[in-house]
Amino acid sequence: MNDSQEYWNPLLETLPREKLRVLQLKKFRRIFQWAYDHSKFHRSLYKKAGIKPEGIRSIEDVEHVPKVEKAMLRRIQSKAPFPYGDALCVPIEEVTEFRQTSGTAGQPVYQPDTWQDWEWWSECWCYVLWAQGYRPADRVFIPFGYNIFVAFWAGHYAAEKIGCEVVPGGVLDTKHRVLKIQELNATAMMSTPTYVLGMADTARNKLGIEPACLKISKITCAGEPGASIPSTKRRIEQAWGAKVYDHAGATEIGAWSFECAEQPGAIHVNEAFFLVEIEDIETGKIIHEPGRQGKLIITALDRQAMPCIRFDSKDIGEWTSAPCPCGRSFRMIKGGIIGRADDITKVKGVLLAPTAIEEVVRSINGLGNEYKIVVDRVGHMDRITLKVELAPEAQEQRQLLETKLKDRLRVKTNLRYDLEFHQYGTLPRYQVKAKRFTDLRKRH
Ligand SMILES: [Zn+2]
Repeated sequence: MNDSQEYWNPLLETLPREKLRVLQLKKFRRIFQWAYDHSKFHRSLYKKAGIKPEGIRSIEDVEHVPKVEKAMLRRIQSKAPFPYGDALCVPIEEVTEFRQTSGTAGQPVYQPDTWQDWEWWSECWCYVLWAQGYRPADRVFIPFGYNIFVAFWAGHYAAEKIGCEVVPGGVLDTKHRVLKIQELNATAMMSTPTYVLGMADTARNKLGIEPACLKISKITCAGEPGASIPSTKRRIEQAWGAKVYDHAGATEIGAWSFECAEQPGAIHVNEAFFLVEIEDIETGKIIHEPGRQGKLIITALDRQAMPCIRFDSKDIGEWTSAPCPCGRSFRMIKGGIIGRADDITKVKGVLLAPTAIEEVVRSINGLGNEYKIVVDRVGHMDRITLKVELAPEAQEQRQLLETKLKDRLRVKTNLRYDLEFHQYGTLPRYQVKAKRFTDLRKRH
């Protein structure tokens, strides 16, 4: 691979949209037929809906194919073959990879992949990393506890496939990870936004190392929306003196999106491998035009062991209108994933996305990176409590910061908050999947 080459796959990444659509339809029909022929779960789902492989002739027909939800995958796990259930499309002995979802919202979903799927995972990630400027000369540090979660595993293999040198940060603690980055002059890393912010704090406060003085020049963030939230992106970029790029993926789906080096305020859909549809949450109709938010329904067009066909990702996003200056023809989601359908709730009749609150908190100098949102009900009224931390150097400015925070929150979200200021370092810190939003109304 030539270093100066702009795209990982120049042909597919710049394919005219009509041709891309033709390719996606062809692949959709192929994976649908595959699932219909090899999985009891899918066949019975489609038979019930009266849809056969030959019934899918256009991309519009895809909209009639039933969606699959996480809960359905959880339910079939009690069936044979153990432990995946009857959505498995290959003989169990062909499965080479086991991963599982985090299970934060219930029992985890087990995810099987064949060796071919695993190569597919890393190929998808190559598009992501190449677009973010990873090249063979990079030394990539991965501060991730390699385990049963897929997280950055495929990113690791993709970096190797590109030709980078990969340093697995594995079981090292945060201090030792920072020291290793320093010792080896690592140039890139992959992590959750929450964790890279925490690493920067550890470097400064516990080691006296200024992270911006290290050699890290690019950071790929995933697992949470942060890298697409402008103020969070800015904080990480300033802390590390590096470019920060977003990536959204999921265990059941794959590496389906990425922000490119142009940082256009949007993420590309990895359309060579995935079909993304946006569904109106209220009407269930597919949204084709830019500017309207909905739920992302995603199909992995080439994944074989356990196909992912019209999977309800519960992620919320909207299409952009403008093409990207990078020249890729892959469509983009504006501002990345703005939240999960489960987290975006109505408070006092207004739609509240926790990412909007994060954008405000992290746009104010003098407030720490951590925050917590608690929604509850007092009598018949919803109440939102926002807990923030005062940075050590800002102790004197509390009144000023409180006014600023209240004003910006009202402008951004149209809601009033009870503010609580906490001592720096006292709110919970997270390594993966931060849980900063609690809705106590659901208990009533
Ligand atoms: Zn682009």
